[in-house]
Amino acid sequence: MAELIFIGTSSGKTTLNRFHSSILISTSNYNLLIDAGDGISKALLTQQVSYDVIDGILFSHLHPDHYTGMAALIVQMKMIERKKTLDVFINSELADVIRNFLIQSYLFPERIGFVIEYHQLTDNIKFNINDDISFIPRQNSHLSSVSKLDDYESQSFSSSSFLLSVDDKNIHYTSDVGEKNDLQLFRDKTIDCLISEVTHIKPEDIITAFDKSDLPGRIILTHICDDDLISLQKFILELPENLKEKIIIASDGLKIKL
Ligand SMILES: [Zn+2]
Ligand SMILES: [Zn+2]
Repeated sequence: MAELIFIGTSSGKTTLNRFHSSILISTSNYNLLIDAGDGISKALLTQQVSYDVIDGILFSHLHPDHYTGMAALIVQMKMIERKKTLDVFINSELADVIRNFLIQSYLFPERIGFVIEYHQLTDNIKFNINDDISFIPRQNSHLSSVSKLDDYESQSFSSSSFLLSVDDKNIHYTSDVGEKNDLQLFRDKTIDCLISEVTHIKPEDIITAFDKSDLPGRIILTHICDDDLISLQKFILELPENLKEKIIIASDGLKIKL
């Protein structure tokens, strides 16, 4: 049975209680890590996830809490003498940033001992990893405000949410969003599980984004700033019973069977 393991659940703020947001999707024949921000190697160690079991990494966007742990993670994989290929799934506009980041970190392809295979994603085009896992990336508005800065026009501001299909269950993973309309990105699909961040969107906007009839079976809240935790818990406690039972506030190490 497939399982979601919350490797980190923090916002961009570094705290002692949570690592930065990252989720491992574990199926019988593939382990997909979503995002690899600052501290990911230690986060995986803490959750007792061997570096070698990770088959692929899917990146949502290039804020430091989502990708800058990549180079350090490749070092750890090199040190354990990994041999199997590592897949990297990333928007086509961002792939060179990761490639160059590794080269600038002296992690040359011919020196690390295993192959990194880049799979460049096109917005809204479904990518099948295997029979059990596929996903559709769609652009969200997370980076819209910074993309208006004149001096950086040549830079990509790609930021994706994903509809992941795992063992026939549909998971809408928001990653980081810009505003509440980003919750509507996959409304043309049936969503079994919503994994939403709660730093750039209010919990009440997450709940009201759905009608009673089409509320996802489960809503997992992550990307949590610890300063907001008490008010978030209070908000959930005050919800009607039928809503409350659907919602989980994620913490590092949370495991959810799909
Ligand atoms: Zn973030
Ligand atoms: Zn972000």
